[in-house]
Amino acid sequence: MSCLFCKIVEGSIPSRKVYEDEQVVAFHDIQPQAPVHLLVIPKKHIASLNDAEAEDAEVLGRLQLVAQQVAREAGLSESGYRVVTNSGKDAGQIVFHIHYHVLGGEKLALLGN
Ligand code: 5GP
Ligand code: ZN
Repeated sequence: MSCLFCKIVEGSIPSRKVYEDEQVVAFHDIQPQAPVHLLVIPKKHIASLNDAEAEDAEVLGRLQLVAQQVAREAGLSESGYRVVTNSGKDAGQIVFHIHYHVLGGEKLALLGN
């Protein structure tokens, strides 16, 4: 299996996990772009949002609720945070296993700036 995040799911590549359940894993981004930068991913390999299907609706919803939970546990509920997914090359997607970035801990620049 060649997918980096599938390897993080199975544990053959180490990561600083902050959350895990049957469907979802969350861990610290290796190159943080903000004081808090977490990645929330499904255990199931879905390449990008563009590749998600109707049967993935439940896990996509779970990703958002886990994003909310890990943001809360990182102390971001009051100050706020951003949840974003890059889909495809124009968005700058590098890892083709869908992931939601959870960013916060400082005033974030507006998207596009
Ligand atoms: P993308 O541009 O695909 O939305 O973002 C991929 C993210 O994965 C980047 O923020 C990058 O720093 C992160 N990343 C890449 N390789 C690794 C890794 O091996 N471990 C962790 N924890 N994060 C990674
Ligand atoms: Zn994968």
